[in-house]
Amino acid sequence: MSETYTFTFMKEVSSLLHAADGNPFPMCVQCGTCSGSCPVAAYMDYTPRQIIAMVNAGLKDQVMESNTFWYCASCYQCTVRCPQDISITELMYALQRYSIWKNRYKEGMIGPAFSEAFAKTIVRTGRTFEPILAPSYIFSFKMREFFQEIQNATELMLKGRLPILPPRIKRLDNFKRMIRRILPMGGAE
Ligand code: SF4
Ligand code: SF4
Repeated sequence: MSETYTFTFMKEVSSLLHAADGNPFPMCVQCGTCSGSCPVAAYMDYTPRQIIAMVNAGLKDQVMESNTFWYCASCYQCTVRCPQDISITELMYALQRYSIWKNRYKEGMIGPAFSEAFAKTIVRTGRTFEPILAPSYIFSFKMREFFQEIQNATELMLKGRLPILPPRIKRLDNFKRMIRRILPMGGAE
């Protein structure tokens, strides 16, 4: 008789980490070293330790509704200090990918639109281009900061420090072929 394989939330997220080093999340002993090392834990809805416990417990809705993985600063402090060698930073990236894939995230987060715009620019041109990324966050600024940003960008353009059109790398087709082997391209092309 064939065995039924249940694809739990934890297994779904783990499958997005297939290329990362580190032990499986169930090996977490809830010591809290990751949370104690995290410079932005105070601003997160749940600390890294809590997020690991919630992923292991299959609390998908609560995890998706949290700001934790969008606030991660990718400093890797948690990962290098974890006594169980768990790749917590990579988990944060995996949750971001999962969130965009399932189109589920906390209302008002800038991260999803910013990440999507960033990935599309890289895939299409091989380079980042700030003016394309700006709309994902600039409208959240107060009026004064908004105009300050516009003024800064204009000055940078006039001094030739910010290109008017997105720059493209050489051999872009080769780059796209390489990226296609690593990532599902979705609608990014
Ligand atoms: S440091 Fe590692 S073992 Fe400790 S709570 Fe964080 S993930 Fe779990
Ligand atoms: S990598 Fe992210 S979760 Fe880990 S300590 Fe740094 S900011 Fe916190």
